[in-house]
Amino acid sequence: MIKASAHPTLENFTFKGATDKRFLNGFYRYIRSKVITDLHIFIPPQQFQNTVEDIKKALYLFGIDLGYDLTPRILFLNRLVFAKKADLLKKDSTWKDDYRSVFSQDNFKIYISVDATGSFRTNDSLAHSINHEFIHGISYKEIYISQNNKEWIVTKLGIRRKNRFFILNEAVTELTNIYVINKFWPRFKNTKSLVNFANREISAPNAVFLVNAMFEELVKRSHLSYKDILRKAQVDLLTGSQNTLSLISRFLGKDFIEVLSSSEESKKYDVIFNLNFLVEKSRRLKLVYFEKQLNNYKLSSDVKDILDPTRLL
Ligand SMILES: [Zn+2]
Repeated sequence: MIKASAHPTLENFTFKGATDKRFLNGFYRYIRSKVITDLHIFIPPQQFQNTVEDIKKALYLFGIDLGYDLTPRILFLNRLVFAKKADLLKKDSTWKDDYRSVFSQDNFKIYISVDATGSFRTNDSLAHSINHEFIHGISYKEIYISQNNKEWIVTKLGIRRKNRFFILNEAVTELTNIYVINKFWPRFKNTKSLVNFANREISAPNAVFLVNAMFEELVKRSHLSYKDILRKAQVDLLTGSQNTLSLISRFLGKDFIEVLSSSEESKKYDVIFNLNFLVEKSRRLKLVYFEKQLNNYKLSSDVKDILDPTRLL
C-alpha cells in the first residue's frame, strides 16, 4: 500500500504543452546554456556560503510549516551569480541602475549585485536579497513548451500570470521574505544575527505597501486574521492556486481584480499611478480603511512606518 505523504513534494517546474521527454531535455539544455557571457563573477567567502546554506534550510522549514516538501526546488537554488553592478549593466540590457538582485526567467539563475548601493553591500543586505529571490525560486513555475517553434514561456510564476498580478506576486514574495526572516532565521547559526536587518530593508516597498493595506481591508471584511490571509497567499505562491484572488473578488469586488491584474509593464512600479488609481477605486467601492491607508502613505511615503512585522507572525 502506498502511504500518502504528510508533506507532498512540490516539483520544480510544472510543464504544459509539448511535454515529451525530448522537448523537456531541450528546455533544460537551453536554460543551462543561457548565460550572461564574460561576466566577472565573485565567489563569496566560505562563511557567507554557510549563511546561504542556512537560508535554504529556513526555506525548507517554511515549506514544511505550510504542508509541503520543497526539496527539488531548493536543490535548484544553486544557480546564484554574484557580480558588480557595472558588469551587470554592461552585459544585461534589462538591468537597471537601482537593481539589487534579479530572478531571471530566461535561465532561472539569480543575479546579485554586490555593490548595488555604490560600495560593497553588507552580508545582511545581501542575505535579504538572496532570500527574496530564493522565494521566487521556490514559487510555482508553470512552463508552456510549444512543439512547433521549439520555444517555451513562463505562463505562471507564483501568483503572477505572465505579466498580470505582478504587484501582488512581488508584494507577497517580499512579505514572505520578511516573514521567513523573522520566523525561521533565528533558528540557524549563520542567519540569526542577520534578522534585525530584515525589518529595515524592504524590497519593492510600494508594492508591499499597497498589498499590506489591501490585506488589512480584507481582515476587516472577512473575519480572517492577517496571518490566515498571508498563509493563503503563500500557498498560492508555492502551488499556483488562486486563494488570494478568490478572497479579493469576494470581499473587495471584481473591480479590484482588474486593478491588480494591470498588464502595463511600465506602470508596475509607478506608485503615484497606482496610488491615485487605487484611491479613486477604493472611494467608489467604499473601501474606507484601504483609502485611509493609501492617503497615509502619500503623506509618509515610508512603508516601514506602516508595516508591523509582528503582524505577519
Ligand atoms: Zn522580486
